[in-house]
Amino acid sequence: MESGNLTFTMIKPGAVSNEYIGPILSKITEAGFRIAAMKMIKLRTAQAEVFYGIHRDRPFFKSLVEFMTSGPIVVAVLEKENAVEAYRALIGNTNPEEAKSGTIRKLFAESVSKNAVHGSDSDENALNEAMFFFSRSEIFTKDGEVMMAANQIV
Ligand code: GDP
Ligand code: MG
Repeated sequence: MESGNLTFTMIKPGAVSNEYIGPILSKITEAGFRIAAMKMIKLRTAQAEVFYGIHRDRPFFKSLVEFMTSGPIVVAVLEKENAVEAYRALIGNTNPEEAKSGTIRKLFAESVSKNAVHGSDSDENALNEAMFFFSRSEIFTKDGEVMMAANQIV
């Protein structure tokens, strides 16, 4: 699998409840990303705690988990050359006040905690995060390599 061409994103509860799914997906596809996998789910507390486990000891951890479990989210795997870096550039700074104009967080985030979207920060995390939510047979890359890998395993 060309993990360098994949990243993982979530459209967070605030953006979903504000009806920003469509506008955010438009920004994503207009920027040249393919949607390789996508679904709408609601995180359970234990899932959110594992997903954000790296932030376990940070003061905002409890509120982060509460927010991320407060309503449905959209999870997706995106495909583009150099996907992780390209997508971090598209979403902008974690804090929307510091995000560049035109970025998804500048356009759609309410605050640093309600910052519209998640984007993976490394190829390794992108793959781990994608596999946290999707089985290989649910990820449809352009060249189908993920599907083929699943067939080989089964
Ligand atoms: P990201 O990779 O840009 O999403 O940022 P991090 O991985 O550092 O943090 C994960 C998420 O925790 C962010 O997207 C924010 O929603 C939240 N977060 C990070 N830093 C802070 C903070 O200082 N205060 C609060 N309230 N939330 C934060
Ligand atoms: Mg992060």
